[in-house]
Amino acid sequence: MKKITILGSTGSIGVSTLDVIERHPDRFEVFALSAHSRVEELAQQCKKFQPRYAVMSPANNAASQLAKRLTELNVSTEVLADAGTSAGALEAIASHDDTDYVMAAIVGAAGLAPSLAAARAGKRVLLANKEALVMAGQLFMDAVKQGGATLLPIDSEHNAIFQSLPRDYEAGLHQVGVKKIILTASGGPFRTRALSDLQNITPDEACAHPNWVMGRKISVDSATMMNKGLEVIEARWLFDAKPEQIEVVIHPQSIIHSMVEYVDGSVIAQLGNPDMRTPISYGLGFPERIDGGVATLNLARTGKLEFEALDEDRFPCVRLAYDAMRRGGTAAAQLNAANEVAVDAFLSNQLAFVDIPAVIESVLSKVSFTNAHSLNEIMAADADARELAHQAVIERRMVSRL
Ligand code: NAD
Ligand code: MG
Repeated sequence: MKKITILGSTGSIGVSTLDVIERHPDRFEVFALSAHSRVEELAQQCKKFQPRYAVMSPANNAASQLAKRLTELNVSTEVLADAGTSAGALEAIASHDDTDYVMAAIVGAAGLAPSLAAARAGKRVLLANKEALVMAGQLFMDAVKQGGATLLPIDSEHNAIFQSLPRDYEAGLHQVGVKKIILTASGGPFRTRALSDLQNITPDEACAHPNWVMGRKISVDSATMMNKGLEVIEARWLFDAKPEQIEVVIHPQSIIHSMVEYVDGSVIAQLGNPDMRTPISYGLGFPERIDGGVATLNLARTGKLEFEALDEDRFPCVRLAYDAMRRGGTAAAQLNAANEVAVDAFLSNQLAFVDIPAVIESVLSKVSFTNAHSLNEIMAADADARELAHQAVIERRMVSRL
């Protein structure tokens, strides 16, 4: 029986993970759950899965609200809380001796510290929280090695690449005959939209992804294609790839989840319906295959699989991410921080959709880049970039009012 901690259990990935776990009561048990603000949803999950611990973020007294609700529901789950920050309690459930697997499914920089704690504690880390690797790639991969953790990518592209690589790829991509990693991208909801329309895009339009149902932040990232930029950086760290070994191709159907090209010209791909329960099941069952309730792929019904080149003028975020990756040090953490602030501002109607890349570019032109040897250095760089991004958002708003 494997005991599982889910960081971010009320989110899109968290809910899909619980759905897979529920199908295998003989294999998996929920050890701990966490959420940011949705008290009632977490209470209902606790009622159903009876975890030993639950963690709520400290804002709005959510932990005591949850504890009260659990008492009413007669659930014995213990609510862990911290003064000021939830990081301590999240790290505790991520690294607890009694948990085997940790699903890292918090969105954004908030997921870094607990994901890192799971890696250091030698857990099987199912990594959905790509921002953790983008911010702290070297530190994270070192923690995985030193902690003896097993890192399994849950992001569908990286899971596809993992499945398409030979098991001994850690010897080095060159060593195992890999020429290139090819990340597929759907192109999001605005792939063919007239550029002049993008000025007035609303948050709901940006979150209406043609193939995937996801949380709002990653949905906006998919619409700007910063998601693919972050994934390029994620691939660089997960597979120790050089920037020039990572390519992006648009594939609007999201059936091929990514590919690996070998020196002999072979290209190995992983296909499937766009359903995150496939990579989640893979991560939970590995090295076995388990049923995650995913519908059978019907290629005859799909009909066409199409491909096209990425339009960098339409999607400048991909170039910004490649630039940050090549620069190294804290640059990717600063890119990520600026993006989080810009996306947040867009989602709360404080920034135009087309100004998201402009805010990021302005931040990256002002920050100073340093080494990323420690979590402190990375968090300081993250904080600086956030500050500059908030200023850039205000400046853009003032310009757009003129
Ligand atoms: P979501 O917004 O649906 O859920 C996020 C979860 O994190 C929620 O449980 C929320 O309570 C928690 N959370 C948010 N802010 C927090 C904070 N400050 N502190 C603690 N907890 C916090 O997001 P999602 O779509 O499930 O995505 C989660 C992660 O997985 C993201 O990093 C995303 O990029 C990645 N991912 C998601 C998908 C997908 O299909 N949804 C696919 C690939 C990768
Ligand atoms: Mg992805």
